[in-house]
Amino acid sequence: MSLFEYSPAPESRAVVGIAESYGLFIDGRMVDPRDGTRFKTISPSTEEVLADVAEAGERDVDAAVRAARSAYTRVWSKTSGRERGKYLFRIARLVQDRARELAVLETLDNGKPIRETRDVDIPLVAAHFFYHAGWADKLGHAGLGPHPRPHGVAAQVIPWNFPLLMLAWKVAPALAAGNTVVLKPAETTPLTALAFAEICQQADLPPGVVNVVTGAGQTGRLLVEHPGVDKVAFTGSTEVGRLIAASVAGTAKKATLELGGKAANIVFDDAPIDQAVEGIVRGVFFNQGHVCCAGTRLLVQESVVDEVIASLKHRLATLRLGDPMDKNTDIGAINSAVQLRRIRELSDVGEAEGATRWSPECTLPARGFWFAPTVFTGVAQTHRIAREEIFGPVLSVLTFRTPDEALAKANNTPYGLSAGVWTEKGSRILWMAQHLRAGVVWANTFNHFDPTSPFGGYKESGYGREGGRHGLAAYLVPDETVEVS
Ligand code: NDP
Repeated sequence: MSLFEYSPAPESRAVVGIAESYGLFIDGRMVDPRDGTRFKTISPSTEEVLADVAEAGERDVDAAVRAARSAYTRVWSKTSGRERGKYLFRIARLVQDRARELAVLETLDNGKPIRETRDVDIPLVAAHFFYHAGWADKLGHAGLGPHPRPHGVAAQVIPWNFPLLMLAWKVAPALAAGNTVVLKPAETTPLTALAFAEICQQADLPPGVVNVVTGAGQTGRLLVEHPGVDKVAFTGSTEVGRLIAASVAGTAKKATLELGGKAANIVFDDAPIDQAVEGIVRGVFFNQGHVCCAGTRLLVQESVVDEVIASLKHRLATLRLGDPMDKNTDIGAINSAVQLRRIRELSDVGEAEGATRWSPECTLPARGFWFAPTVFTGVAQTHRIAREEIFGPVLSVLTFRTPDEALAKANNTPYGLSAGVWTEKGSRILWMAQHLRAGVVWANTFNHFDPTSPFGGYKESGYGREGGRHGLAAYLVPDETVEVS
């Protein structure tokens, strides 16, 4: 029995006005889809219908790409870096002004806890626009020669796990570099992208510089395959990433792909265990585990495994699962019924393969999509739960004896997005970081994000970087008159 009970601390929904239906944002205006097709977006924590959203078909995508091309040719390519920077600063400030509303909207549409949208997603969205606003008039110092050029029209397809943040990761560098954009948000989380369209209007961004076409996978396919697109940026599954890579192969389109992961979070026996346990929790239970760089494979040195597991179970028993709008909530709803089914299936496979399954006692709400935080011990490298991306609050625990063994196990994956190392020994951190095949390596922390720091993967986790100077480079053509280092 707990020593005390929490009183509910619900965030108010009154700060956000959700329209009954939404159109597509093309050439600076909200317009109806040409063939009239629509779908519903629901709140995953209650299954309540939030709004009716337009599904962009071929003619809509074509209109959006044409609007982006025309805005590029007529306005944006002729707008100075300093002016573009002003628009980005304006957008960043509007995001801050509307932060509470955006956090509530994201929580309603995505199911993630308000504590995370309020303290992580939305502040990072503003930070990305501020950071890239600063770059807009300094592109000649990005290491790509004195006069790097934009590509032109960027097609951007994003997933549902960090809807507005993924938009910011894509739109901010594209605009700073002088490209125009057609963005497709995920089918289950279109609302914050549509609120962002409104912010573009408020910021007086020239019509057509940003266009938002909502829809499902087919809309994304139409967009990336459109011949009027110069650059494709995608975040999502490795499966769809492969289709996109195949579709742009042999064309002049540039592409960056940020795909799946199966990160190792490695705990050595000299690590401060309490801190490491916090890092493990943050690594895999943050955002219900819907995180491509989540530390889903916990590698613990054999001599401390019992202590780490005991401490982890104790900590997990204190996590609060439930209403994402409650400020006390740590674990919100799974984003969709489809995703919940995937998590359940793979977890059942884990049990069938012989791993031991454990979850803290917690009551799941009757409506909505929910999955209790889950830990598998006794996991072997060959198990599917140690190899496949589950994209849910599920941790697989493996053990190792030596640093070499830890490294070999950590790198034994088709992915290579991120990794974590927990140890007091600085030289070991450096050695591990040098040898881990992962785009991001966190030392004595996990899941820290910063717009100045490049993020991206190796192997089946995709190619290209987002954030920092490297991320900016993906939206620029180097100046051919100089040798680029
Ligand atoms: P997808 O890769 O299908 O979705 C990502 C985005 O791509 C969405 O906007 C989606 O549209 C769109 N899309 C789907 N098919 C195509 C296509 N053929 N051409 C262009 N765009 C397309 O991921 P899911 O949402 O289906 O999730 C499946 C699995 O992918 C998860 O279980 C997880 O393992 C992984 N995933 C990884 C992410 C990451 O950040 N690395 C993010 C999301 C998922 P729509 O949503 O409308 O279908």
